[in-house]
Amino acid sequence: MSTDRSPIVGIDLGTTYCAIAHYDGGKVRFFTNPLGQELTPSVIAWDRRSQGMVVGRQARDILATRPEDAAALFKREMGRDTTLTIGDRSFTPVELSAWMLDALRADAERALKCAVTRCVVTVPAYFNEAQRFATKRAAETAGFTVERVLNEPTAAAIAYGLHGAAPAGDTASGDTASGTAPTDDEKRFLVFDLGGGTFDVCVMELFEGMLEVRGVAGESRLGGEDFTEALVKFALEDRDFDQIAREQPDDLALVRKRAEVVKRTLSRWPRAELLLPEGLGSDVVPVSREAFERATASLRERMVGPCRAALRSAGLKPDDIDEILLVGGATRMPGVRAFVQDVFGKAPLEGPDPDRVVAHGAAIQAALCDDDAGVRDLVVTDVASHSLGVEVTREIAGKRHVGFFSPIIHRNTVIPTSKVEVYQTVHDGQRAIDLEVYEGEARRVQDNHRLGVVEITDLPRRAAGSDFSVRFTYDLNGILEVEARLSGVDRVFRQIFHREGKILQGDELIRAQDRIRGLKADPKGRPRYRDALTRADLLWRELPAAQRPILDLAIDAFESSLGDSDTAQMESRYEALNQLCDQLGGKDRW
Ligand code: AMP
Repeated sequence: MSTDRSPIVGIDLGTTYCAIAHYDGGKVRFFTNPLGQELTPSVIAWDRRSQGMVVGRQARDILATRPEDAAALFKREMGRDTTLTIGDRSFTPVELSAWMLDALRADAERALKCAVTRCVVTVPAYFNEAQRFATKRAAETAGFTVERVLNEPTAAAIAYGLHGAAPAGDTASGDTASGTAPTDDEKRFLVFDLGGGTFDVCVMELFEGMLEVRGVAGESRLGGEDFTEALVKFALEDRDFDQIAREQPDDLALVRKRAEVVKRTLSRWPRAELLLPEGLGSDVVPVSREAFERATASLRERMVGPCRAALRSAGLKPDDIDEILLVGGATRMPGVRAFVQDVFGKAPLEGPDPDRVVAHGAAIQAALCDDDAGVRDLVVTDVASHSLGVEVTREIAGKRHVGFFSPIIHRNTVIPTSKVEVYQTVHDGQRAIDLEVYEGEARRVQDNHRLGVVEITDLPRRAAGSDFSVRFTYDLNGILEVEARLSGVDRVFRQIFHREGKILQGDELIRAQDRIRGLKADPKGRPRYRDALTRADLLWRELPAAQRPILDLAIDAFESSLGDSDTAQMESRYEALNQLCDQLGGKDRW
């Protein structure tokens, strides 16, 4: 922890809105922007009148009328090697996020009348390493020291006061989390977070005062904005949407703005009307809640997979969940609440305002980092949202195959953690090892995210099969340290990974294209065989660590039989794999 004693603030850097808060004297206090609002739209724009950049509400107004002068939804691009344009200038997602964070810091400094240089910043639980690191870099660019990168659902659970040592009931903004949250010693919670642009599901457990994340899943491109877009398409159903987008962008922007209002109205009332702009004939489109729900059914259907995956990685069924917490403004939609109730068979908890709950929890976590006496009882751990491991070779049916992923820290392992795995060298007299480090859930490294390589050189000549150990140490800020050592040799090869993600280019792109071509030209390519492997591969990603090896064996056995002409064996292994998938994955929805 830094020695700087400036107050630590909690920041929710949301896809559509941001909020900043501070825990002070037993209360969470939200800082307001210059317009007096606690939620600041995550939009940055070039204001032609003042010839300067603007942030928040003013920028959102520009976005509606001159989208080319504004940038929004940049959180979705975090961790990618891409730029967004504002006018004729390009910015990275990190730069745009830094801009937002700088504006939020100014709001806090105005209220506190002192420099604010330390923060806890939240990210979706589903964010990978590159995305977390990009968020941290953005905060550092804005002049913050980042005390903790906190998962949004963890922040929410803290805000709901699930730990029982709750300062959560007191907020200066009048939110209340008191009363309804259980304080028993052992509880399982599911955090259902539908924000503007991301969807996260997180299963958490409270045990003897420890709040632990047990399973996470999500979709980084699904949120309330998609519901608005579905409503826009519904209102323009009889017209040529693409043509309007091309030829009447101002009118379309106005429809979007009005659809946002209608969407919110439908959360409170059974029907509303959307007035189309003059350029589209000034028609009034009546929208009932039922019609809106029908138009958005496919969006809710996309939520089933992540709910199921989060439960499965926690090893739980819907019935095992004691409480459901709602996070994110979009969970105000009655259709979403009904969906939650339908899937889990119980109504969600009433808690703090879903728009503010994440910043609220981040502020309490900030106080925890600051060792504030009021929150000392709470211990928070987190989990690795993706497995971390190395590339290994495997012997299958007497032949050595490269490109397999060997996880060392499994997804959902409680962090911080340090784990060691022992591997063997492949060749006699092997002098070097390129230890390729990956993050992901696929069996083959080519389908995972490569973090980098640890080059192990000048090894003493030994026989093939000599042991070398690899230690992975992973902290709460998503920093991974990899250490490798050959048994009996003093030298340690060490590397820290936290680099930004990148899009496929050059050799990597060619490899990916080859892979796709390979799949298409698969000589064993009977669709049902391919389907069985795809199904097994997807199931493998969802399985808890303990169940993966048994599926590994069945997949390897089936894959190795595909190269042979023994069709009877191929068929029996296909059957065996399918049966195992039924057993492990279940045929029913859960
Ligand atoms: P968040 O990023 O968590 O603040 O979520 C913002 C999203 O919630 C946006 O897509 C909003 O349109 C949506 N939202 C906020 N309030 C409501 C409401 N009353 N009804 C429906 N959606 C809402």
